Amino acid sequence: MAKIGINIATGSLQQAEMIVGIDLGTTNSLVAILHPETGKPVVLKEFHGNALVPSLVHFGENGSVSIGDQARPFLITEPHNTIFSVKRLMGKSYNDVRDYASFFSYRIIDDNTESLVKIQVGNRFYSPIELSSFILKELKNRAEHILKTPVNKAVITVPAYFNDAQRQATRDAGKLAGLDVLRIVNEPTAASLAYGIGLSKESSKTIAVYDLGGGTFDISILRITGGIFEVLSTHGDTYLGGDDLDRAIVGYWRNKLSITEEELTKDPSLSQVLRLRAEEAKRHLSGHDQFDGSINGMDISITKDEFEELARPFIERTINSCARALQDAGLIVKDIEEVVMVGGSTRVPLVKQMVGEFFGRKLHDELNPDEVVALGAAIQADILAGNNKDLLLLDITPLSLGIETMGGLMDVLIPRNSKIPSRVGRQYTTQKDGQAGIKISVYQGERDLVKDNRKLAEFNLTGIPAMPAGLPKVEISFLVNADGILLVRAKELRSGVEQSIEVKPQYGLSDEEVERMLLDSITHAKEDIATRSLVEAQTEGKQILDTTENFIVKNQSLLTEEEIKITRAAMNDLTAFMNGSDKDQIHAAIEKLNDLSRPFAERVMDIAISTAMKGKKIG
Ligand code: AMP
Repeated sequence: MAKIGINIATGSLQQAEMIVGIDLGTTNSLVAILHPETGKPVVLKEFHGNALVPSLVHFGENGSVSIGDQARPFLITEPHNTIFSVKRLMGKSYNDVRDYASFFSYRIIDDNTESLVKIQVGNRFYSPIELSSFILKELKNRAEHILKTPVNKAVITVPAYFNDAQRQATRDAGKLAGLDVLRIVNEPTAASLAYGIGLSKESSKTIAVYDLGGGTFDISILRITGGIFEVLSTHGDTYLGGDDLDRAIVGYWRNKLSITEEELTKDPSLSQVLRLRAEEAKRHLSGHDQFDGSINGMDISITKDEFEELARPFIERTINSCARALQDAGLIVKDIEEVVMVGGSTRVPLVKQMVGEFFGRKLHDELNPDEVVALGAAIQADILAGNNKDLLLLDITPLSLGIETMGGLMDVLIPRNSKIPSRVGRQYTTQKDGQAGIKISVYQGERDLVKDNRKLAEFNLTGIPAMPAGLPKVEISFLVNADGILLVRAKELRSGVEQSIEVKPQYGLSDEEVERMLLDSITHAKEDIATRSLVEAQTEGKQILDTTENFIVKNQSLLTEEEIKITRAAMNDLTAFMNGSDKDQIHAAIEKLNDLSRPFAERVMDIAISTAMKGKKIG
């Protein structure tokens, strides 16, 4: 519960700073809080109004900007200036969306296909981050207006499959809207929280979150253990939802009324009216057996049975996704202990029926499916506000994070499936005498060689004071914060020289890529191990060659010519094997060189000690 205090000076009630939960959706967005008196999450509605703010931004000719319901009429009258579905563009390049470019009625810039998309409105260009920030700002204003207190902190939800770039973009949109985004939370995580699942520490549960909205479908399988929400798998279809059901009804009526394509092109408002009536019919049929209405004086009707026949193939596609998600998680239907329903389209009775049959259990559909994600975000916000200290909700890293070490090997600092937030430090040193800088290359992936993994960032730690090789202590620490953003810091402990970098990869990874990377690591496991041991042997060989060379140069006067000759011969042998691919030969040559040089080293040491002792009195 939010804390309420009394301002001693004025005697008025003062509310502790409110952290709001925001569901930034593809079609609609909402803001929710934990009610200060009841302790229950509630969505914020304008007086007599709707809780849903349509995720729409309209730019007027005169420079005016309207958001939400006010922007809706312009979808039809000014489609080029009215931005919808901006969430689909978050963290994406033109290449990522080119196949769907015709879906958007506004202009997406395609001049530099590799960089993040921009949207052109008139002669101005907007990034998806800026556009989303308009919607967030509207939600912030709404919350401030209703709560009558400034709102500066928020938790924002994103789909479980959002990659780093998309999460970072969402966070940046929040910042731009004047919100300190305390946490980015997965939508299925929020939905389960709204149902109280995962709120008790001891419970360990495997659940499915089925989310069918207006234009997108997601199924997520989560395992919740002691407040940790692990996404086991996600599946879905980013272009499947209630809109498809509307279109199916439109098609059905057009057939019945013999409305041709030509008539529709002649009268654009007709297709608009058809679509609106179809949605009305669909909603009506969620509670009735028959819909009757009229379009331009023509009677239209559809029964629930007829609608269900149209809807069935779409719902079957979602059920297939559920089966895939289970398979990907290595689970069977019986393993799923709870099923949570999210999204307006889960109100369709046939959806509930088919999902219930597939999972063979009763579904969680008691809460308003449009609101569950925002309600859960409000619960998470309250936990972050410190009002529920027992709970810390955590997510997990999908792939290992590490740095490149000698020979191009991957040194993992944070293994995959680590809980986040997570912090790990490890010490490294220099390879050369007087080395002033170290290059730190950060990688993500499961393979043993960095070249097979994905490079996230690279930076140089410079200004290390001159020291012999091996003496500097360079501590590299990785911090993955609660949003999954990685902060890498390198510090030379003796001198205090320090450098850090926040890893904001422009392109994160899609689910498929993560899957492929994991699969690759399994298929290549054997050859990876072989390569790693060869590279390790070569690295060790190179080190001993360097040290021996140094030793000979420094101590020439203490060694006989013969000794130098045989040492050099052993060094040549090792060098020859180093270019081959037999690690055992390299190890044997290292052994030989070691055996040979050890007595010399001991002799040199003895001489050094006796020289040091000379002239010194003991006792
Ligand atoms: P969302 O994206 O979660 O806001 O879901 C919006 C979708 O839910 C739209 O396609 C709506 O037509 C659909 N929807 C809302 N209410 C109902 C209802 N009572 N029956 C069927 N579909 C509905």
